[in-house]
Amino acid sequence: MHEGGVSGEHVDVLVIGGGIAGVAAAAALSQLGLEILIIEPASAHGRRLAGELIHPPGIEGLYQLGLLSETASLGAKVHGFAVFPFGKEASGPVVLPYGEGHGRRPFGIAIEHSALKRHLLERVLEFSGVKAWLGARVTGLEETGDRRFAALVRDENGGIRRVGARLILGADGPMSQARKLAGITHATQRYSGMMGVEVDDRHLPNQGYGNIFLNPAGVSYAYAIGGGRARVMFEVLKGADAEDSIRTHLKSFPEDFRRDVERELSVGKPLAAANYCIVPELSVKGNLALVGDARGCCHPLTASGITAAVKDAFVLRDALREAELDVPAALKRYARICGQLQLTRRTLAEELREAFLAETPEALLLSQCIFSYWRSSPLGRQRSMALLSTLDSSHLSLAVQYALVALQAFRLLPHWFKNDAMSAWRKGVFKFLTKSIAFQRAAISERLGHGAFISDL
Ligand SMILES: Cc1cc2nc3c(=O)[nH]c(=O)nc-3n(C[C@H](O)[C@H](O)[C@H](O)COP(=O)(O)OP(=O)(O)OC[C@H]3O[C@@H](n4cnc5c(N)ncnc54)[C@H](O)[C@@H]3O)c2cc1C
Repeated sequence: MHEGGVSGEHVDVLVIGGGIAGVAAAAALSQLGLEILIIEPASAHGRRLAGELIHPPGIEGLYQLGLLSETASLGAKVHGFAVFPFGKEASGPVVLPYGEGHGRRPFGIAIEHSALKRHLLERVLEFSGVKAWLGARVTGLEETGDRRFAALVRDENGGIRRVGARLILGADGPMSQARKLAGITHATQRYSGMMGVEVDDRHLPNQGYGNIFLNPAGVSYAYAIGGGRARVMFEVLKGADAEDSIRTHLKSFPEDFRRDVERELSVGKPLAAANYCIVPELSVKGNLALVGDARGCCHPLTASGITAAVKDAFVLRDALREAELDVPAALKRYARICGQLQLTRRTLAEELREAFLAETPEALLLSQCIFSYWRSSPLGRQRSMALLSTLDSSHLSLAVQYALVALQAFRLLPHWFKNDAMSAWRKGVFKFLTKSIAFQRAAISERLGHGAFISDL
């Protein structure tokens, strides 16, 4: 690609952020023979609480991009989830295997986040055409007058350099500066915080599966990350006391494992993170495209942020290839496809979060319907896992699955009748019906290509 009109440094693609999304995109676009510069402020990544569990489509994508290799033994294999319900439902976990349909590698992998990030960045720097400025950060975006941005980069010595690029990727995470500098607004909802520790995996229940424990204090997770270690994360709801919340979460853990976690908590300080839902008004503006969490994120309940970021990379690569490197045409396609994927992912996370926190009788009914569906239907478990893992990103599939889950309300009717809760049951069923129609409408509008999340400068 040749470029005119911008002075100073010049590359085909400037990637703002060397996290998972930035690295995956750099790897994918390097396959098109483009010259790529990654700007990443952290030269040595500190430990941080963030995504570690990658679904099979994400793992397959990382292998295909050459960022993971069969020989490097990283992390621990994950074959699906074991979901522990709360309260009266608590008759053991529901096991949801990834199962069929996941091709050559029907397993996910969980890897300590910083180790994963370090590995991916090191790998991508071996790719032809990819270089990085580590210790540098993007501090400004300037309009160049031809419907494009150029970036101002503060290098590791504090000097400011102007970098022009035909395509700029904002891959700088949920609080994206690139998004802000480009004047793209977003809706934010902060749900809760998350505290996490690493423990010995000896007593981890359901080895080989991601454990999800549900209770009114939020969601907690426990999964192996390799090397005999397991990650445990506890959600702390807005306004709740962290220690009280952790104590409540621990009550749902099997005894031996709980003791291991308590021991770890008594000696170490947990890592912390915040859980947001962020929906930017646009995912493309001029020559800037947002990828990964910068393009939007949701509650980590579906553990799909990394897999979605890897998918962004493929969609972008394929759109550029199809448009023969015509950036505006490719970005239009990228915005449309990724908008659809994100809508399904976000809706699923929202619905599961609402059901599992069960603050209203309708939410409790939905939660019971989900468990009833999973316990009674092997196909239902398979379809749910296809949606959770992003193997199936169709909003229509989500709408169909939601309707099938909602039908379980009739199976649960005698129970609600016996408990004299018919009015709540009716309210719940009415809500499911309304939502089901709304999801089907969204699916139709998605098919018609509405909501492309794109703008010129
Ligand atoms: C508690 C928690 C648990 C999660 N669990 C899961 C899970 O199990 N599975 C899953 O798939 N996802 C999970 N997620 C989501 C997952 O962590 C994210 O989707 C994923 O890390 C997004 O990667 P990213 O590259 O888009 O952003 P980030 O990982 O945030 O990377 C952004 C990069 O941009 C750099 N940067 C920032 N500002 C600038 C700048 N001005 N200039 C240049 N670079 C900059 C940063 O240094 C960073 O390296 C979880 C998230 C949280 C908070």
